[in-house]
Amino acid sequence: MTVYLIHFQTALHHARHYVGFARRLQDRLTHHRQGSGARILAVCNERGIGYDLARTWEGAGRDFERKLKRCKNAARYCPVCNVHAREYRPKGGEP
Ligand SMILES: [Zn+2]
Repeated sequence: MTVYLIHFQTALHHARHYVGFARRLQDRLTHHRQGSGARILAVCNERGIGYDLARTWEGAGRDFERKLKRCKNAARYCPVCNVHAREYRPKGGEP
């Protein structure tokens, strides 16, 4: 299982990141690109907003995904937004 962080090149509805969870990340990313994954990424596709896979946590579980989604500060974990992101460890630890 992999938790992943997608960084939008332009903010959409004040959101700049999407946190997801996938068993097979490449398949999931393909769905996102095709617009058949998360709704917000389908909207990015429709509006021509580019996005990149910024970071992944291999072996992470849904609890960690929920924790990232709840913290509402995904930028802190995003190496595109924060050059120190890779050194940062959330409270409770990363998997
Ligand atoms: Zn970012």
